[in-house]
Amino acid sequence: MGSSHLARNYAPLPVTIVSGQGAWVRDVEGKAYLDLLCAYSALNFGHCNERLVAAAERQLRSLTLTSRAFSHDQLEPFCAELAALCGKDAVLPMNTGAEAVETAIKAARRWGYEVKGVAPDRARIVVFENNFHGRTTTIVSFSSDPDARRNYGPYAPGFVTVPFGDAGALAEALADDDVVAVLLEPIQGEAGVLVPPDGYLAAVRRLCTERNVLFVADEIQTGLGRTGRTFACDHEEVVPDIYILGKALGGGIVPLSAVVADWDVLGVFTPGSHGSTFGGNALACAVGREVVSMLATGEPQQWAAERGEQLHVGLAKLVGDGVAEVRGRGLWAGVVPAREVGTAYEVCLRLLDRGLLGKDAHGAIRMAPALVVEEADIDWAVERLSEELHG
Ligand code: PLP
Repeated sequence: MGSSHLARNYAPLPVTIVSGQGAWVRDVEGKAYLDLLCAYSALNFGHCNERLVAAAERQLRSLTLTSRAFSHDQLEPFCAELAALCGKDAVLPMNTGAEAVETAIKAARRWGYEVKGVAPDRARIVVFENNFHGRTTTIVSFSSDPDARRNYGPYAPGFVTVPFGDAGALAEALADDDVVAVLLEPIQGEAGVLVPPDGYLAAVRRLCTERNVLFVADEIQTGLGRTGRTFACDHEEVVPDIYILGKALGGGIVPLSAVVADWDVLGVFTPGSHGSTFGGNALACAVGREVVSMLATGEPQQWAAERGEQLHVGLAKLVGDGVAEVRGRGLWAGVVPAREVGTAYEVCLRLLDRGLLGKDAHGAIRMAPALVVEEADIDWAVERLSEELHG
């Protein structure tokens, strides 16, 4: 076990970070790295973003937590501003992404029984092969990743898995009247940045509407600017019934997640039926309000779209030349290395020497720098990657 006192549920790359600014971090030796992971997009606005740190500092000195037994002055404004960004009526704030997914599952089941009229305990939710929605026991019950599931049974029932990107398979699953929701990542992140075929999200929307089933979009990783739009669903002008948000909502400073929907769905919650001690705390809401106000300008999304275009143009030139495939959208790429250059994990390990901090995702190197990344940084990153792949 060595001298560590840390449980071994992660296998981190051998780097110890001590500081971060914008898209960059420094390790204990002072070496700088461009952060290509950004805490799985929780750091969309960069490390130690001045506006977000200032908002957190202001709030830290006045009020951090009341619990929901009482209200506080940041709660209603946060919910109103986030609901407006999403074009929805209401918000249920939580902390981590997995908690928000659990909340959406509860909302969908309750909606199924109380609004759709599904018989007690019959509700089913359609999910997708290679999904990633978090680590709770219910969520890993419908994971198709053996590492995420092994020896965590008994597994929760009530989920039906279909292939991602196959509208015909989804239509078949939706023939069952007990289905209450479709829970979908608009782009599958952990699976290796898998983008569904054009028109798929629109087909999911149409099928859900036809079958009176809730379309629940897990935009925890895809949302809040990462793909060059506020939400990945925006690329097909699709509006789900429920948005699940997290990660970047807390500005990389505090855990903050949310379920956002209209009252016909979120209205199913009554006092005592769901809750969280820290959910909607004052510190998180103050930071979240600043995040929402930055996104409301549209500027981070625009910058992500432009830098994303630059990134994908650069990466496309490497295909067939050390790179087997590049997937992604906006400032988010999954780069699959050619077999002869090694696995994505091995390439990430070697990229450390070149000042690139990346992480593999099921065979792909993910490139998701902070949305505040400079134009020159993108070219620099593509050049370092190209050098690495050519030895
Ligand atoms: N949903 C998606 C799409 C995610 O990418 C993640 C985390 O990577 C989660 C849910 C879980 O979020 P958390 O780790 O904050 O529980």
